[in-house]
Amino acid sequence: MNISTSQGLFEKAQKFIPGGVNSPVRAFRAVGGSPVFIKSAKGPYVYDEDGNEYIELINSWGPMILGHANELIQEAVSDAIQHSFSFGAPTRREVEMAELIVSMMPSVEKVRMVNSGTEATMSAIRVARGFTGRDKIIKFEGCYHGHGDSFLIAAGSGAVTFGTPDSPGVTKGVANDTLTAPYNDLAAVQQLVDANKNHIAALILEPVVGNMGCVLPAAGFLEGLRKICDEEGIVLIFDEVMTGFRLSKGGAQQRFGITPDLTTLGKIIGGGMPVGAYGGKAEIMNWVSPLGPVYQAGTLSGNPIAMAAGLTMLNYLNDHPEVYSQLETSGHRLTSGFSNSIAKLGLDYTINHIGSMYTLFFTDQQVTDFPSAKSSDLVLFGKYFHEMLNRGIYMGPSQFESMFLSTALTDAHIDRVIEANEESLKAALSL
Ligand SMILES: *Cc1c(COP(=O)(O)O)cnc(C)c1O
Repeated sequence: MNISTSQGLFEKAQKFIPGGVNSPVRAFRAVGGSPVFIKSAKGPYVYDEDGNEYIELINSWGPMILGHANELIQEAVSDAIQHSFSFGAPTRREVEMAELIVSMMPSVEKVRMVNSGTEATMSAIRVARGFTGRDKIIKFEGCYHGHGDSFLIAAGSGAVTFGTPDSPGVTKGVANDTLTAPYNDLAAVQQLVDANKNHIAALILEPVVGNMGCVLPAAGFLEGLRKICDEEGIVLIFDEVMTGFRLSKGGAQQRFGITPDLTTLGKIIGGGMPVGAYGGKAEIMNWVSPLGPVYQAGTLSGNPIAMAAGLTMLNYLNDHPEVYSQLETSGHRLTSGFSNSIAKLGLDYTINHIGSMYTLFFTDQQVTDFPSAKSSDLVLFGKYFHEMLNRGIYMGPSQFESMFLSTALTDAHIDRVIEANEESLKAALSL
């Protein structure tokens, strides 16, 4: 067993870690082959244990919006570790972090820091249930909200890829309290609401979906949900773990001009450290312990090192609006390049795109919900994925993922991705 290679490491990993990975999608099951073990990364590049360099399109699933190993964040973390790693007591940076989040996201009046996106969404629905005194929630097929029991019903991303949308270990009681509707289907939501009058605590969604691949809300969808929630006293939760601080400084809610009651955050907010947050209307957040009766706690919540990284990241994004115009430009350059190649090769695949998120779906259908995403040719995606990898492009190893661009990608990098895409399409299709 040669543990200086990805293959060797994966063989060893499988002995000691379930499936050899600490998060399922990393195992490459959806695309076949053995996962690439990453050794380091800098700016737009990642390097594996085998000595290969790749252009980075995953960016840790979003957090590396400024590219890898950003110097400002490195410096902030180096400074912070001089003062110890954790106190389990309040610190100055937590206050600064909360104030900054509130200023960047106007719907958030109060915010609580946690350690992952999963914790953020679990906590947000607990508060919504406490606040409304109701039990049921509505989620959308193909939306992923972390691995909390309530959300492992028709979940996207890894759960889609592995065909286990209803995980064993989730009780029937929990499953019964989670109602699901097709994404972009307001009429289905209205039906669920009518059939469960005064029982629905919260409606949670990705305002732009990243976890069935990139799927955009149809015109009027978010507005319609806001209206239904207002009429029925349902807490509207935007899960912006992916989209927060990515689709604009104020997230998808700012971009689409819709104000949710609660927002969940993660990924970018930690600058690469394990961080999440949930926040929203003070009226609701005042229910959280110790101010209110809804319990939620964390030994490492607001961890000083994580706060140093996250605060530096958010301050940078807050002070540099040009980040977002650059990401828009890069996203357009990349996806119009892809469109040109697709047309040139006489293909009719669908590209969904917004800002710095995109997915190329191997289907001729418009992808607006989970069934249309699933109409993609997954075998072809697997071939394409490996062709891209062989050409030095590091993408999410599943059709049901969005790619995430960073500001470290120059036009020259984007053009290399466009070229690799065209060659990979040809190779995968034997054109
Ligand atoms: C990644 C993600 C989560 C889960 O966050 P973790 O930090 O992996 O627990 C929740 N919701 C959305 C929309 C996500 O993309």
